[in-house]
Amino acid sequence: MHVNAFQHLLKKEFGVCIGGFMNTLLQNRVPLELEEDKMVLQVIHVRGCHWAALQVNGKDDICYYDSFYDSLSQDTFEVIAQLVHSDNPVLNVKIMNMARQNGSTDCALFALATLTCICLGMDPQTAVFDQDELRSHYISMLESEIVASFPIKKRRRFSNPYKLDDCPIYCYCRLPDDGHKMIACDRCDEWYHLRCIEIDKENYLWYCKKCLPNI
Ligand SMILES: [Zn+2]
Ligand SMILES: [Zn+2]
Repeated sequence: MHVNAFQHLLKKEFGVCIGGFMNTLLQNRVPLELEEDKMVLQVIHVRGCHWAALQVNGKDDICYYDSFYDSLSQDTFEVIAQLVHSDNPVLNVKIMNMARQNGSTDCALFALATLTCICLGMDPQTAVFDQDELRSHYISMLESEIVASFPIKKRRRFSNPYKLDDCPIYCYCRLPDDGHKMIACDRCDEWYHLRCIEIDKENYLWYCKKCLPNI
């Protein structure tokens, strides 16, 4: 799958109004450029071999579209936290209600179809994509470089638009607790990953960069 070539095509077509479409190889290194009034769309790579789609409207409205799983794994939270880099103490993610795919192999096509839908001003939650036609449509779009909606078999109704999941985030890096050692600031009590800080072992007390000037 040429996920990034396809994202590049969407960026070329819609990049003036819609942010994101970052190369997925950068997802664990570079945060998304988020602006207050600009929607950001991004395909993400999670769970080792799975693809899903993210729509971020400002830092606090995060919509996660997954055609296979209906929950967020720890590593999915980490990927989203890294991309969003929120100052909030808790990362809230809306797991969007969407039509399920058959089998587990077409998740990237579903993620791209979802983002294309949003780009074209359509609601991906009402769409039941025609799974048998997705791949050929994807290939013809890459070849022609013309963006058109992925084939939709029918429209669906749904009652609950999303379910919320959340995860506390910490430290300068604004990531969750991943089981590695953390230390609390002795002034503000915020937790920091040991790998993210410089610590002077001589000192009994430790203060974060935000608190240090005020000590
Ligand atoms: Zn950290
Ligand atoms: Zn502090």
